[in-house]
Amino acid sequence: MTHPSTAARVVFLGGLGRSGTTLLERLLGELPGVAPLGEVVHLWARGVLDAEPCGCGEPFPDCPFWREVGERAFGGWTGALATRLLDLRRRVDRTRRVLRIRHPDLAAYVLAYRRVYDAAAATAGARVVIDSSKHASLAHCLAAGGVPVHVVHVVRDPRAVAHSWRRTVARPEDGRPMTRWGPARTALHWSAQNLALDLLARRGAQVTRLRYEDLVTDPRTTLTVLAHRLGLPAELPFVTGSTACLGTAHTASGNPMRFTVGPVGLALDESWRSGPHRGLVAALTWPLRSRYGYRGVTA
Ligand SMILES: [Zn+2]
Repeated sequence: MTHPSTAARVVFLGGLGRSGTTLLERLLGELPGVAPLGEVVHLWARGVLDAEPCGCGEPFPDCPFWREVGERAFGGWTGALATRLLDLRRRVDRTRRVLRIRHPDLAAYVLAYRRVYDAAAATAGARVVIDSSKHASLAHCLAAGGVPVHVVHVVRDPRAVAHSWRRTVARPEDGRPMTRWGPARTALHWSAQNLALDLLARRGAQVTRLRYEDLVTDPRTTLTVLAHRLGLPAELPFVTGSTACLGTAHTASGNPMRFTVGPVGLALDESWRSGPHRGLVAALTWPLRSRYGYRGVTA
């Protein structure tokens, strides 16, 4: 195992899907010394077993970056390793377990992530790696397993999140539609994930909360404040007004936005305000929604 003094610093992006974690990862990944890894929790199934593409466009097994990471961390990726990690994940990494996470397999599960992070930092020549796995349960596992993770808890108005989950979006990896949820289901997941992420501070993890709306309406200020909190250089030449220019990133899995290269417009999507079910979502997510500053019932 890598000695702690040479261990990579890990920034974990948490939040319910469609809350802007992929966008935030891409933006932070443009800072010097930072390596964005995508959703590492899905690396085992989608990358190693299913050979889905890396953010660079190459199938995961053919990406030179991930090939080197695998060599450094495990002597190479194998199906047996991925299957073992998926089995560990089923036993250890569950949302319903976050309050009592002690498990005999926790150390082995967390060690695999530690090895991926350290190998990725060494391969990229980076001091900091970003894991945008999102799930509170993995963040709890890492914190309980002794990884000094800094969690950025990304929140977004649940009415906008629910509107996004109703949309039909094709996965660029295979053209199949992404999972869709109804408004009540999204509201329940939104509350569960955000509550579980709120509990991380009690476990001793450093947690910084960030509102998606602040990121897209004032990216320069929001990123500058966040970079200082994370101890990263706030060098933002890639942000001009409401446009960010993104390079290629070796992200193992995640939202379709991980493939975007070039200029990206940052703007609030307000289409949810005229969509159905916003009153239902507002009711089901109160009072947590109000604590994050999302007020009003239908507007
Ligand atoms: Zn790649």
